[in-house]
Amino acid sequence: MINESQPTVVLIGAGIAGISAAAALADHAQVTLIERETQPAYHATGRSAAIQSQAYGSPAVRALTRASDPFLSAPPDGFSEHPLLTPRGLISVARADQLDHLRAEYEENSDSALTWLDADEVESRLPLLRRGYAVAGFLNADAQDIDVHALVQGYLRQFRAAGGRLIRGAEVTEIRKTGDHWQLRAGDDILQADIVVNAAGAWADGLARIAGVNPIGLEPLRRSALTFRPPEGVDTAAMPMILDAEERFYVKPDAGMLLASPANESPSDPVDSQPEDIEIAEAMDRVLQALDLDVRRIESKWAGLRTFPPDRTPICGFDPDHAGFFWLAGQGGYGIQTAPAMAALAAHLIGGAPLPAPVRDLGPDPALLSPARFR
Ligand SMILES: Cc1cc2nc3c(=O)[nH]c(=O)nc-3n(C[C@H](O)[C@H](O)[C@H](O)COP(=O)(O)OP(=O)(O)OC[C@H]3O[C@@H](n4cnc5c(N)ncnc54)[C@H](O)[C@@H]3O)c2cc1C
Repeated sequence: MINESQPTVVLIGAGIAGISAAAALADHAQVTLIERETQPAYHATGRSAAIQSQAYGSPAVRALTRASDPFLSAPPDGFSEHPLLTPRGLISVARADQLDHLRAEYEENSDSALTWLDADEVESRLPLLRRGYAVAGFLNADAQDIDVHALVQGYLRQFRAAGGRLIRGAEVTEIRKTGDHWQLRAGDDILQADIVVNAAGAWADGLARIAGVNPIGLEPLRRSALTFRPPEGVDTAAMPMILDAEERFYVKPDAGMLLASPANESPSDPVDSQPEDIEIAEAMDRVLQALDLDVRRIESKWAGLRTFPPDRTPICGFDPDHAGFFWLAGQGGYGIQTAPAMAALAAHLIGGAPLPAPVRDLGPDPALLSPARFR
C-alpha cells in the first residue's frame, strides 16, 4: 500500500488528536504515528468525561463540535460495533446566588437547543438533587456520551487497514530539519519525514522547542475526577449530567458509577497527571452540597491535563515560519468531541484529502485554527 509519490508524514502523539488525524491521512500520505507510552490514549484522551456538548467552548470550538457530530452519529461502516454516541442530556443548575451566571450562560448559548427549567422542573428531572438547592436550570437535551474507547479503537483499525504504521513506547527526543526533510529520533529509530505533525498534547510546546520551532504558549491545566457508587436501589443510568452554573462541579453516570469533578483548572507542567487530595475533597464537598447522597467510599480517582492555547481555540495548521511543521494541539476540554472535524481538516491541509461536507459546511474558517494567529 506504500505509494512513493505521497508525502511521508510522522505524527507525534497517539492521543485522540494524533490517532484521528493519522487515520484520516492514511489514504493520502505514508503515515507513521509515534507514541512515547506503550499504550495509545494513555494521557488526556483516556481520562476525559466523555461528553459531547454543542453548547461548550468558543464559537470555533462549537463549529468543530457541530461539524464532528455527523461522523460520531453515523461513523463509516465497520468503524465500531457499538454506537459512538448515546443520549445523556445535561442540566446546568443554579442556586439563588448563581442565577445571573445561569441566565448569562443560557443567553450565550442561544445557538443551541436549550430549555429553561424552573426549580420544580429541575427537581423533577433530578431526583438526587437536594430539595430547595436549585432555583432554576436549563436542559441541553442534545448532550451525549461518547464511547471514547470505541472511537480510539475505530480510528486505530482504520489507520492500520490503510497501511499506517504505529510505533509505541518510543519518545521523540530529536527533530532536525535537513534540507527539505525532517529527521527524527524516536527511541532507537531514526525516521525521515516531509511533514511532522505535533499532536503531543500537553507536551506540544516542548516538542516544538526540540524542533527549533517557537512555542505557542500552551497552558496545561489539570482537571481531577473521581467515581463513587450511586445510592442503593437508585438507577442512575438515564440521569442527565449535572453541571454547576459556575462550572464548579459536575456529576454524571459512568458505567454504573457516578463520576464527579470539581471542574478545576490547576496549572501544571506536562506530566503524568495525578489528582491532589484537596481537589478530590472539593469535588465531594460541592457535590454533597447539591446532591442528597451518602458516599461511603471513593471507588477511583484520576486527573488529566486539558491543554489550552491563549485564546482557548484549538490549533490546526502549518507553522508559518517552519515549512512542514504542522500543529495539531491545544484541544483543551473539547478534544474528543471535536476530533473528527479536526482530523479531517488536518488531512485536507497536509495530504489534500477532500473535506467532508459537514466540515466544509459547518466547520469554522480554518484561519481561526491556524497557528499564524499567534505569530
Ligand atoms: C478530566 C477531563 C475531562 C475531559 N472531558 C472531556 C469531554 O467530556 N469531552 C471532550 O471532548 N473532551 C474532554 N476532555 C479533553 C480531552 O480529553 C482532550 O482535549 C484530548 O484528549 C486531547 O487529546 P490529545 O491527543 O491532544 O492529547 P493526549 O491524549 O494527551 O495525547 C498526547 C500524546 O502525545 C504523547 N507524546 C507527547 N510527547 C511525545 C514525544 N516526545 N514522543 C512521543 N509521544 C509523545 C503523549 O504520551 C500522549 O499520549 C477532558 C479532559 C480531562 C482531563
